[in-house]
Amino acid sequence: MNTNILQTPIDYLKGVGPNRADLLRKELGIHTYQDLVNFFPNRYLDRTSYYKINQLNQSSADVQVIGKITHLKTVEQKRGKRLVATFSDETGSMELVWFRGHKWIRESLKINQPYVIFGRVNWFNGFSMPHPDLELLSEHEQRIKPGMQPVYPSTEKLVNKGITNKVINKIMIQLFSETHRYFYETLPDTILDELKLISKHQALINIHFPKNNELLAKAQYRLKFEELFYIQLQLITKNISRKNKIKGFVFDQVGTCFNTFFSNHLPFDLTSAQKRVIREIRQDMGSHAQMNRLLQGDVGSGKTIVALLSMLLAIDNGFQACLVAPTEILAQQHFNGIQELLSPMDLNIRLLTGSSNTQDRKEIHEMLQNGELHILIGTHAVLEDKVKFQNLGLAIIDEQHRFGVEQRSKLWHKNSIPPHILVMTATPIPRTLAMSLYGDLDISVIDELPPGRKAIKTVHRFDSNRLKIFRFIRDEIGKGRQIYVVYPLIQESEKLDYKDLMDGYASIEREFPKPDYQISIVHGQMKAADKDYEMDRFVKGETQIMVATTVIEVGVNVPNASVMIIESAERFGLSQLHQLRGRVGRGAEQSFCILMTGHKLSEDSKTRLETMVRTNDGFEIAETDLKLRGPGDLMGTQQSGVLALKIADIVKDNEILKTARYYAMQVLKEDPGLKLEKNKRLLFTYHQLVKHKNIWNYIS
Ligand code: ADP
Ligand code: MG
Repeated sequence: MNTNILQTPIDYLKGVGPNRADLLRKELGIHTYQDLVNFFPNRYLDRTSYYKINQLNQSSADVQVIGKITHLKTVEQKRGKRLVATFSDETGSMELVWFRGHKWIRESLKINQPYVIFGRVNWFNGFSMPHPDLELLSEHEQRIKPGMQPVYPSTEKLVNKGITNKVINKIMIQLFSETHRYFYETLPDTILDELKLISKHQALINIHFPKNNELLAKAQYRLKFEELFYIQLQLITKNISRKNKIKGFVFDQVGTCFNTFFSNHLPFDLTSAQKRVIREIRQDMGSHAQMNRLLQGDVGSGKTIVALLSMLLAIDNGFQACLVAPTEILAQQHFNGIQELLSPMDLNIRLLTGSSNTQDRKEIHEMLQNGELHILIGTHAVLEDKVKFQNLGLAIIDEQHRFGVEQRSKLWHKNSIPPHILVMTATPIPRTLAMSLYGDLDISVIDELPPGRKAIKTVHRFDSNRLKIFRFIRDEIGKGRQIYVVYPLIQESEKLDYKDLMDGYASIEREFPKPDYQISIVHGQMKAADKDYEMDRFVKGETQIMVATTVIEVGVNVPNASVMIIESAERFGLSQLHQLRGRVGRGAEQSFCILMTGHKLSEDSKTRLETMVRTNDGFEIAETDLKLRGPGDLMGTQQSGVLALKIADIVKDNEILKTARYYAMQVLKEDPGLKLEKNKRLLFTYHQLVKHKNIWNYIS
């Protein structure tokens, strides 16, 4: 198996040369023969079928037709001329149009001779095809039929520099003639047989030069499967080897802290989902391996108490614990809540954020180092290198999607032995995505809300209904409830948004005047201390209305708040809307979410609003979100580039992903080291992939 030729730099391929090689590298990231082999078309033009003119319809795309040119004329128009040919078959006629090069085209066209034309048709008072591909039927019949024609991804620069699709095609032909003998099989026969996959050799040939639709589909399936299979193989291997190699602290005791709290101070009975998750976490932390677990639970499902109990386990075993949140408000709230819950117990808990003063920091650093501090709660500030623990046993990250992979890994290095890590997220990640994003994490799910919650009623209202909304707010406040009014804040037009927020605040203040009503306001341009003050008044029930930007989006917990009004709701993403809605419905009262918009709405906005009105199910919402936005946008995945797949599509190829994961698990279950003879192709390919980083770059 000579694979070296595939590692040849692209410059050496006949027809490429240094200039084109440079462009291929810069524009498409193609460095080697191998990269080019794996540069797949993103669509195909079907040249296997022929249409009659009367079969064309207004939605026809690229079509191939046989007929004759019966008439030619040059039409003068405002800018330059155009050449128009009447093209007919026995069923009707259409126009062929050229805007450029008409002189030589006109000279070369033959009247009343059969042609095969191919191109995109437009419809405007009849069908026309601008700049068709055309050749005489006699010539067309003599050569090998083009079949399905690949169209490769391209950039403007490439086209401008003359590297058109045709050129790429030619380069591919050259490449395949030099290298196709070196394409080796990468999957074991057992998998090929069971799934009836075509060989790698066949797949590569048919992805670039498909003989027909059926072979193309087989080639696509095979290559998608392979791509997803190797990703899963790597993720699962990583997970297994972490469990074997990375020693974790063993928390084998359930001690006084946990038991005292559990028996005497737990404010409610845990749901069975919470109990199950705590069991899973205990098992992990008692297992000699480092825990690396993702806890998923919809907003309000009660993740905080799980975090707290886990931290108590760490303390019982003589370790420190920390809890990191993405915003100051949230860190503060965790701190207040946890401090209150643990007040009957003799534990040291501190808060560290960007606005902690020097004195506090000094004390915290000291207490961390001498081991006095049991629990540290904070923001990104906790991750800074200068924050050192005596013995950090458990690190918890809340709202993981707000943090990058890098930040997660910072926690690993707080000790010589990495602490157990629990990351929590309320953004329900569709399982398929979780599998590919977090395949190296174990996953726990809280799939049950605490008892007594009523489903939140969600409605969509237009700005013109505002008076009714005000009446509704007044009634709810009359019943003793509290109200959120949220305005969008996006970076690009921060000033404008800020104005919207302030105008909104002013009109609410007019409608709900002091002293009968008290209003809080929180936005990103306020000082942390002022935000805390306003937030605190709302939490204590001193104010009835909270006017805010999305800073309150994550985690904030005020059970008495029963109405969430979202202004300009069309400007929010689905998962953000769902997060915001999750701020209400936390108490026993019926809660409401009102989505306010103007009348002009895009199709996507309409879908988002309808989805919100239809369902409270975070997972369903996440699936829709994924479909609307594509995975790249979700949860800052771009930064880790996790989903830069070559051919598979995480959303559309869901089923293939499941199959791939299943097979990867089966293989590794039987043969974790890939040592068996039948798996030798897997081992070889795996090493190749790891060695030539190219495929693994997209895995965090
Ligand atoms: P999230 O998962 O969104 O972080 P929280 O941990 O903030 O949710 O919990 C939401 C609310 O539900 C809190 O007021 C919390 O005290 C309450 N809660 C959590 N678990 C239970 C339970 N088992 N029974 C009753 N209330 C609970
Ligand atoms: Mg939370």
